[in-house]
Amino acid sequence: MKTTDECISSKVTSPTNWEDCLELPDGDLFAKARAFQTLVKREKRAKNQFFRRPVTANGRGRATMIDPENGTEREMIMLGSNSFLGLNTDPRVIEASIKAAEKYGYGSGSVSLYAGTTDLHIELEEVIARFYQTEDTILFPTGYAANVGVISSLLREPDNIVGDMFNHASIYDGCQLSGAQLLIYPHRNMKRLARHLEQSTGPEHGTMIITDGVFSMEGDVAPLDEIFKLAQRYSARVMIDEAHATGVIGPSGRGTAELYGLGGRIDVTVGTLSKAPGGIGGYVTGSREMIDYLRYYARPYFFSTSIPAPVVAGLIEVFRILSTDDSLRTALWHNITRVKEGLSQMGYNLGDTASAIIPVIVRDENRLKALLRDLTKSGIFANYVAFPAVPRRRCRLRLGMMAQHTEADLDYVLETFASLGKTHGLLD
Ligand code: PMP
Repeated sequence: MKTTDECISSKVTSPTNWEDCLELPDGDLFAKARAFQTLVKREKRAKNQFFRRPVTANGRGRATMIDPENGTEREMIMLGSNSFLGLNTDPRVIEASIKAAEKYGYGSGSVSLYAGTTDLHIELEEVIARFYQTEDTILFPTGYAANVGVISSLLREPDNIVGDMFNHASIYDGCQLSGAQLLIYPHRNMKRLARHLEQSTGPEHGTMIITDGVFSMEGDVAPLDEIFKLAQRYSARVMIDEAHATGVIGPSGRGTAELYGLGGRIDVTVGTLSKAPGGIGGYVTGSREMIDYLRYYARPYFFSTSIPAPVVAGLIEVFRILSTDDSLRTALWHNITRVKEGLSQMGYNLGDTASAIIPVIVRDENRLKALLRDLTKSGIFANYVAFPAVPRRRCRLRLGMMAQHTEADLDYVLETFASLGKTHGLLD
């Protein structure tokens, strides 16, 4: 019988999956990287090259990509993008961005508190606050930085954070950095949330409930109405991450709070400018006092360079479109509904998705890889999702729907899934 140490070290020299590489009882800091190479080479030999495939052109729900097998360019139907409304290639947005590049330059050259705030940054902050009916907004370089910044500056020991177990990694990282106590409830389980609140709230420390609005790997929506009621009952604050909800969810695309009639009533709303808005950056929106505090105490704001003005100008145009024109969202929802209904009628397990993210839950990494290799050969790009994004036994394909997919694209996608599902034993 092997000892635990022997098991760990044999895993490390011949890892069978990514998790093994994390366990390394060795003084050589690079040994895990060396061990990881055996996995990289094995996947390459098996032609499982699903990551970092260079995109050479983008637009209208498609992308031209370099095929890693033969180095040639190939057009694919893009089901792997978070730019659900296709705004990253919208001509109106690009035009605004080009004009700003000519006037302000392509990079900002400074952090926001020094020379990195332009009049455009201030305008975008105001536009986002109006969009959410809040008092003020702070922009961060990324959505990741927004989550880390707001959580680590508002909470500290002995405060409590009560969070959904499927919250985004950047929320977890912010929690860890804050030093506050983190209590996790099973995904969307309101009984467990209530129990945590009952056991942890008190006058001597603050409590914040934190949840994704739309969960990034499941595509399902948080029960924000119940979370809000529990927060009121236990005098806790609520923070929601609307990364995948903004522009998609709610009667006018203003996100999960709007869906539940809670627009303007959530204490802290975080969003990214990288998903439906199609650019890069993150934000926190809420009360003027809280936002002003973050401008001095949120370290990723204070110590990191601001979003470039051309992106900010593009985003001002994006929010104008989101506030005045429903046509892209209507097209997106038509496409979501077609693919979701089509795949679930075939018998695929799509979890409880209610957004532009459609997980196709496979649960077996080898089958998932084989399916994805064949989808790629068929000219369909989708994302491989396993550890560390989800536990290995919940591995899946993650499809991101776009407004620009045509009926012919969707016919082809559905036909391909029907035939490959049978080939790979996923459908009867
Ligand atoms: N929150 C959620 C829920 C996300 O899915 C992501 C992106 N994966 C982020 C935050 C981070 O956003 P960004 O990519 O803009 O840093």
